[in-house]
Amino acid sequence: MSYSLLQTPIEYLKGVGPQRGELLRKEIGIHRYEDLLNFYPNRYIDRTRYYKINELNNNPAEVQIIGKIINIKTVEFGKGKKRLAAVFVDDTGQMELTWFQGHKWIRDTLKLNIPYVIFGKVTNFNGQYSMAHPEMELLSEHEKSLRSAMQPVYPSTETLTNRGISNRVITKMMQQVFLETQAQFVETLPSYLMDELKLIPKNAALFNIHFPKSADLLAKAQFRLKFEELFFIQLQLITKNLVRKHKIKGHPFTVVGNHFNDFYQNHLPFPLTNAQKKVLKEIRNDLGSHAQMNRLLQGDVGSGKTIVALMVMLIALDNGFQSCLMAPTEILATQHFNGLTELARELNINIKILTGSTKPNERKIIHEELENGTLHILIGTHALLEDKVQFQNLGLAIIDEQHRFGVEQRSKLWQKGGSAGGTQVPPHILVMTATPIPRTLAMSLYGDLDISVIDELPPGRKPIQTVHRYDSNRLKVWKFIKDEIAKGRQIYIVYPLIQESETMDYKDLMDGYESLSRDFPLPQYSISIVHGKMKPAEKDAEMKRFAEGKTNIMVATTVIEVGVNVPNASVMIIESAERFGLSQLHQLRGRVGRGAEQSYCILMTSFKLSNDSKTRLETMVRTNDGFEIAEVDLKLRGPGDIMGKQQSGVLNLQIADLVKDKDILLLARQKAMELLKRDASMSLPEHQTLRAVFIELTKKKNIWNYIS
Ligand code: ADP
Ligand code: MG
Repeated sequence: MSYSLLQTPIEYLKGVGPQRGELLRKEIGIHRYEDLLNFYPNRYIDRTRYYKINELNNNPAEVQIIGKIINIKTVEFGKGKKRLAAVFVDDTGQMELTWFQGHKWIRDTLKLNIPYVIFGKVTNFNGQYSMAHPEMELLSEHEKSLRSAMQPVYPSTETLTNRGISNRVITKMMQQVFLETQAQFVETLPSYLMDELKLIPKNAALFNIHFPKSADLLAKAQFRLKFEELFFIQLQLITKNLVRKHKIKGHPFTVVGNHFNDFYQNHLPFPLTNAQKKVLKEIRNDLGSHAQMNRLLQGDVGSGKTIVALMVMLIALDNGFQSCLMAPTEILATQHFNGLTELARELNINIKILTGSTKPNERKIIHEELENGTLHILIGTHALLEDKVQFQNLGLAIIDEQHRFGVEQRSKLWQKGGSAGGTQVPPHILVMTATPIPRTLAMSLYGDLDISVIDELPPGRKPIQTVHRYDSNRLKVWKFIKDEIAKGRQIYIVYPLIQESETMDYKDLMDGYESLSRDFPLPQYSISIVHGKMKPAEKDAEMKRFAEGKTNIMVATTVIEVGVNVPNASVMIIESAERFGLSQLHQLRGRVGRGAEQSYCILMTSFKLSNDSKTRLETMVRTNDGFEIAEVDLKLRGPGDIMGKQQSGVLNLQIADLVKDKDILLLARQKAMELLKRDASMSLPEHQTLRAVFIELTKKKNIWNYIS
């Protein structure tokens, strides 16, 4: 079938017309024939089974019943509201059919005492069964039409249903589109691939997804279409990565020089873990390659990303380039600055920090040194992105905790790159994140970035012990804290902060603080508090007091979530833990377990817990593994929520599901890589159609716009 017929606007389909066309466009994004074909059922129901009214004991699914209407009336309910109620009977009993909308025209079309087949969801109200807005068909017509055991149910919207575009109408349109196109569709996948994977042809797949002939063919159709969808996404992502590597030049860091070697041989404070060595090697390969590096470095909290960052910056320095490291908050930037300065103490290099609170005279010095090249490494917050900050030759930008930075900011960094032979060259980019992203998700979202993972913690860490306690056990928990404090340890107590009810959260925090002050009185105990309503300077001062061991307890909202490092703090208490998401709980827990002592995390909750909350708490108690936690999180929340709205666009998949279809995704990625390795430009004869489809798809739904 020619491609252009599939591009016909949907209103030209027989039975659609301008009004329905408008609705289809607005409500479910169906503009053309092709969109309708690619609008897949989200489930299938058995329409070969008929129920009797006396069999209807609270069946949760849709049922199909044969019977007659013996009476219709309009019933008033509430102020001026009316509904239409019909009494429907079969030889076993009676029930009610009811309509809240469109009752006038429905009443006109209904016939009394003639057999109908009705279909819909039954509710039981005071012993009376009732079906609202049933799908109805005269039994005589129903018998004429062919029934397949699996009838498709399409996703719908309230407006569509109210405006009469029922599932049956959609099914009719689908039949019509198959009729008008003669069900001949271009095969999109190369035949050798279909043979290899035993995929059914496109035609058969489309037909069986809409009108399954058997459960087996339906399963084959689903597999084929899911594979195809994921395969084309992977082709796009991998192609983009290849293009970037070929086209976007980077500064080649070919020298392995003095600073790096000196540090590695003489100043390493501890032996690197194998995982740290592995990612350093991956990064060095990139840097030496003449292409720009765009790499995501994932490593759980405490896995030791900082030293890796330093060593990468030393490579830049050895090759005559400046580096910067950007962190999302001032506290974190300061911590990085202190940590890196300490690590590099013997190296005789110039490291400075720039944040919103840097004084004008210091700023001036920083600007000068950046421009004349005497400043080697600049650490900072968003302040680094200001236009006034000009580097002599920025070769490497490291971004910590990337999920807090937007795409715009990444691109601002690009523009600060130095030049080579007169043309602007973007700096190498290393994005570090402690929020583990499940592999499948990373593959789909960051397929255009290369990924390195530090999947090993430094040796000798004692796993944090996590327990769940109800509020009613608070006294025991307090006793435990007092014992820990007596041993010289410090404690975090964290309260939730949810933007919508900031005032309420603030009150919870303050109430908590007050009762703590009573239970842990001065002078024996001292308590710090940090929350969102404090000025940055106050926050920092309070954090500092705690970090220096001047206070025993730090009461805080989630501002301490990211990166803060106080090795002597060994207990993390999370209040109302049921209100936190999994990844946030994991991040918070990562604030302890940084020293040599056994650390604890105590999740406090009320008795009332939803199933999801229970799963989250059980997961936290069971494991310390960030990747395992991320997988559970993905299952609970779905990919859209995890990545935020901005990035979820790419996840608007038609048929595949990143969680459930993980194996198909892996297969699709592997096949896409194999194909591109053999034929990067898709120009071999057997890839002609593939290429055409690919180009067409890329025009329509360019994944790259969504992600980087
Ligand atoms: P994160 O990945 O969370 O940023 P850090 O870089 O802050 O982790 O490292 C956490 C702690 O582990 C630091 O105190 C650091 O000095 C220590 N550390 C890092 N790598 C090693 C190692 N290979 N052996 C021992 N300790 C290490
Ligand atoms: Mg860190």
